[in-house]
Amino acid sequence: MSIDKYYITTPIYYVNDVPHIGHSYTTIVADTLARYFRIKLGKENVFFLTGTDEHGDKVAQSAEAKNLSPQEFCDEISAEYKEAWSLLNISNDYFIRTTDKDHEKRVKEIFTKLKNAKTPKGNDVIYQDEYEGLYCTGCEKFLTERDLEDGMCPDHQKEPEIVKEKNWFFRLSDYIKDLEAKILSGEFEILPESRKNETLGLIKQGVGDFSISRESVKWGIELPFDSEQKSYVWVDALSNYITALGYPDDLDNFNKWWPADLHLMAQDILKFHAFYWPAILMALGLELPKREFIHGFFTIDGKKMSKSVGNVISPAELVTRYGTDATRYLLLAQFSFGLESDIKVELFDEKYNADLANGLGNLVARVSNLIEKNFSGKTELKEINIKTNISENIEKYKFNEALKEINKLVAESNQLIDKEKVWELVKSEEKKAYDVLSELASNLLFIAKHLKPFMPETADKIEKIFKAGKIEKPKEALFQRI
Ligand SMILES: [Zn+2]
Repeated sequence: MSIDKYYITTPIYYVNDVPHIGHSYTTIVADTLARYFRIKLGKENVFFLTGTDEHGDKVAQSAEAKNLSPQEFCDEISAEYKEAWSLLNISNDYFIRTTDKDHEKRVKEIFTKLKNAKTPKGNDVIYQDEYEGLYCTGCEKFLTERDLEDGMCPDHQKEPEIVKEKNWFFRLSDYIKDLEAKILSGEFEILPESRKNETLGLIKQGVGDFSISRESVKWGIELPFDSEQKSYVWVDALSNYITALGYPDDLDNFNKWWPADLHLMAQDILKFHAFYWPAILMALGLELPKREFIHGFFTIDGKKMSKSVGNVISPAELVTRYGTDATRYLLLAQFSFGLESDIKVELFDEKYNADLANGLGNLVARVSNLIEKNFSGKTELKEINIKTNISENIEKYKFNEALKEINKLVAESNQLIDKEKVWELVKSEEKKAYDVLSELASNLLFIAKHLKPFMPETADKIEKIFKAGKIEKPKEALFQRI
């Protein structure tokens, strides 16, 4: 990957849901990549964006149920996301909210541009037409197939009616051939390969125009050319990736970062990111994001995560039990990024004890203790150069593989202590013991360097211990056994 800047985004999370392990996972992946590229390219050359999606009827209803105004409700939930990301030590450079005044103003400008634009075939990009949808009279709104359970509105246990209203539509059909070509050529990369094939398959089945406004929605951005209509999700939410950079009024900043190097997301929003978003960008005359990575959903201990099953895990629960860095580690180390995965919570304790308490934590304690007790905290640090694929694996999104390699280095160092019986060596062959401990301390600094994107606080602690003029065993274990 030859690049000189890196712009990475998570999806903006919908405030109708509170932060859970799914959001956390995507955000930790983004954070790991952002930290990795900050080391590689320099801090000033990485921009990491996350935020919250705050408009729509569902939000307004949830607010009403809590006796809050929609804005108050959004402020509350948005703050919960910020709090969760702070607990997980997420290093986003900016947090965008779709109710930000800057964002709202810029979305209106984007709507005006779309209204004035023509497709490559010379048609108006947006046009008015009848929207036909599934309407629940109980909810007083349109539902999507996704909202239904067994064909019924889950809130009212009633089949929705088919209802028509006038909407503005985006002429996606005029862009789909170009888009297909860009996906096939790799100019617009969809990862993993299976998701690219899924996207191309959907194009073959036929992709229609999509509605970008609603008459019935009240909590949303008003269209600048039609006061009867509010923006419906897509233009408002997807545009966050460019309004956060200042588009269309701060083009200097926008041009510094755009196109995005990576949009990360889960599979449920593939269609919107693989079709709607690139088409909107083409209509605005902008470059497409370089790459999108779509990961699968989680089950928790074999069951779908849901409020009714009661298996929705909050990041705070994990951080309370394991600490920030270990939570990041447990989520990234357990399975391959990208696949549909089952989170086995009952294995977390075991993995925590094996890899962190007995593995890395114990190694740090043993080495620092032996150096402190036998050599007055002195050692000779060497530049270690072990050939690994850790960086390569991170750039290929194989985070669990990278962590496996780091664990192997930890295990080898622990084995070296046992093989050389360093605790006896310090009495019989002082010089040799000194050399072995110097090697071990140097290995730990090498390990810390590679751990930085994953476990930034732990890496800092290890560096502090072994780069100190006098090495001392830390008063508190890096990872307390559970
Ligand atoms: Zn309903």
